[in-house]
Order: sequence, then C-alpha cells, then structure tokens
Amino acid sequence: MECLIEMARKGFAPDWLKEVAEFEGIELNKLLKLISRGEVVVPRNILRNEDFKAKAIGKLVSTKINVNIGTSMDYINVNEEIEKAIVAQKYGADAIMDLSTGGNLTLIRKKIMEVVEVPFGTVPIYEAARSCKRVVDMDEDDFFKVVEKQAKEGVDFMTIHAGVNWITVERLKKSKRLLGVVSRGGAIIIGWMMHNGLENPYYKDFDYLLEILKEYDVTISLGDAFRPGCIHDASDRAKYMEFIVLGELVEKCRQEGVQAMVEGPGHVPLDEIETSVKAMKYVTKNAPLYLLGPLVTDIAAGYDHIASAIGAAIAGMAGADFICYVTPSEHLALPTVEDVKEGVIAAKIAAHAIDLVKKGQKDKARKVDFEMSLARKNLDWKNQFKLSIDPEKAERIWKKRRSTSEACSMCGDLCAIKIVKEALEREWKKIA
Ligand code: SF4
Repeated sequence: MECLIEMARKGFAPDWLKEVAEFEGIELNKLLKLISRGEVVVPRNILRNEDFKAKAIGKLVSTKINVNIGTSMDYINVNEEIEKAIVAQKYGADAIMDLSTGGNLTLIRKKIMEVVEVPFGTVPIYEAARSCKRVVDMDEDDFFKVVEKQAKEGVDFMTIHAGVNWITVERLKKSKRLLGVVSRGGAIIIGWMMHNGLENPYYKDFDYLLEILKEYDVTISLGDAFRPGCIHDASDRAKYMEFIVLGELVEKCRQEGVQAMVEGPGHVPLDEIETSVKAMKYVTKNAPLYLLGPLVTDIAAGYDHIASAIGAAIAGMAGADFICYVTPSEHLALPTVEDVKEGVIAAKIAAHAIDLVKKGQKDKARKVDFEMSLARKNLDWKNQFKLSIDPEKAERIWKKRRSTSEACSMCGDLCAIKIVKEALEREWKKIA
C-alpha cells in the first residue's frame, strides 16, 4: 500500500481522508496539496482500519492537542494510565502519547492502545534504553529494532531525536546553559554518544530509519533534544543549531515520502516565542510544528498548565500547529487522572483561542463563541453548560450558589445583561 504523501502527490484521497477534510472544513484537493508539500501531516499507521479517527495537523487546519501519559520507574499503575487516556479523550485530546518507562512496556502500550481512538504516539528510545542494563550498552541495532516493533504494533507517530549529532553536541558544550539537556530521549542519546564515541544512529542512518517508518506510514516527530528547560537557557545557539539540522532532516523525509513534524521548546519568555516559532517554520519550510508549551515562566510549579497555555496561545498565533499539554504536576510528579484533565482543558482553551484567529479556522471557531454569547444573552444556562469546555464544572459552579433570579448569583436581579436586554426590547417595541 502506498504511503499518504505519495497518494496525495498523485491527487488520490483514501475515503477516510474525505472525513478529515470535512471535519476541518477544507476542500479535499487543498488538503491533498498541503499533505504533498509536507505542510500538513495526518498521522495514521497503515495497519489502522476505517474506524480510526485520523487528525490533520498543520497549516489551515484546526490546532490540535497532544496528551502525554505513561508509567514511570517509580509508579506503575496500568489501570490509571488507561483511565488517563479515557479522560483525556473525553475532554478533547487529539492525540495520545505513551511515554511509559516502568513495567512491561509492550503490554502497557497494548492496553492503552485498546482504549485510544485518536493518533497514538511513542518515543521508541525509551523502550530501546530499557533493553539493556545500562543505556550506554545499547548497540546501534537496538535503536532501530524497537522502531520497527512499535510500527508493527500500529503506532501512528514517533518522536525520534535525530537532530542530535556531534555538531549539535559540540554547540551544547560551548553553551552556558543552566539546565543542560532536559529532554529525556535527547539525554539518553547524548549520554550514549559520549560514552561510546559514536554518532547518533538515528542521524547517521536516517535513511534506514525512514525506510522502516515508510513501510508502516508512521509519521516522524523530529524531537527537540536541545529544548531549553528554563528561561535562562531559552533561544541559545544549541537550540538554533538543532533547528537547522531538523530542517535538513525534514527535507529528507519529504523526499522519501515520510510525513514529518518538528518539535519545539520548552521554556521561552513571551517576547522570544514569535521569533522562535517563525525561525522553526522558516528552516523547516513550514513543517507542522509541535510544541511543548512553551512555558513562559519557571516559577509556576503546581500551575505549569497555565504557564504553558499562555505560551501555547502566543506560539499558535505565530504558527504553532500542535500543542503538547502540560499538567499541574509538571516538574513535580507523575500526573494523576485529575491533573491530566486540568492539563487537557488548559491546552484546549489555548488551542481554541488560536483557532479564533487562525486562517482557515477562524469562522468555524468564532461560530462556537457566538453561540455561547447568545446563550449568555438569553440566560440560557443549559446551552452555556453544553458549549463550555468542561460542562460538568460549569454547571457545578452555577448550582453551588444558585440565584433566586433567572440570572446567576454574581449580580442576581442586577444582572447587567438582563437589565439592558429588557430596556432595549422596550425601546424596539416603541419603534415598531
Ligand atoms: S448576573 Fe451578572 S455575571 Fe451573572 S449572567 Fe448576569 S451579568 Fe453575567
């Protein structure tokens, strides 16, 4: 079976792609063109059946959000991870990544995949690193074997830190970073390279990697190993060096017919976000941009989902396409189910705020806000709850201090909306 980019280049659309175009409100031919140029990706393993809910990420389509879940070496509870996946989808996750590092990784992945109906991603180096007692003992084949294994299991997209090479590592050594490398996958690869004195196999044998991915039409998400982990480290040369390498790798992906998106930072102050996003878009010739946050401050421990949503909204306005959620547990602990819900909602608010100003999505997104405003004007509580991102919470708060009037308990009979609406209606009746 042909991969999606090749089909798109021939102008052929599989049936499932028609539904994607319809959902996005974009003409099918336009979508095919964007896919063929690599400006939109639709992660979908070739083994998926027709029921799978494919999602388009990139230019002119709605902003998507990803939710990371998974066990750690310290905390392994598969049922909780399954519950996180279910809750994340309930509140609007467009993709789920399993970042498990503790327990039986194959089994955990299988169980999570059973409940996931949206694109499913992994970071294969985590599993590769688990195949040996010490990560530095992996051989080059271990890097690829696990990619093939996960592709055969049906994984739709994989984060692969192929931008790590001796050039980027040398640049890192010269930088005066406070936190060095905070990417787990990046750190594993850098540690392995330094210990063995060898080039990153994902970079050195990138063509071989693409062969494996292409066979299953797995989308590559080019990982940002050098993403800044604090405001002090933002926008340094090591990060920009990696951007340039990733730009070159994107070109290779497009030549070989592998869908590619690019990951970005990290912790970035507000006034550097736009430059950062635009630089990445420029060097990758408009590849879909997948951002973790960015977090706009380092001091929001317990509230990092908010710091991240602020950064995501600004990044989205500058061109970011895919937002990786952050939970209140970020930097502190493995998230709980409730943390996942909070994180998804914060990211969803950012994504919708982006769509309200995004070319191709603006009109559709604004209709939803218009409906909400109409419900507010009519004091139509039922519809206000229905249109809210978290209907249960909105209703719970409203009921907690219910007003004796038809308005809410914030102003009661002094409800501004009601007073002016009634006054205007009286005036209009006079004119009529
Ligand atoms: S009572 Fe006040 S807060 Fe509540 S709907 Fe009316 S104007 Fe808004």
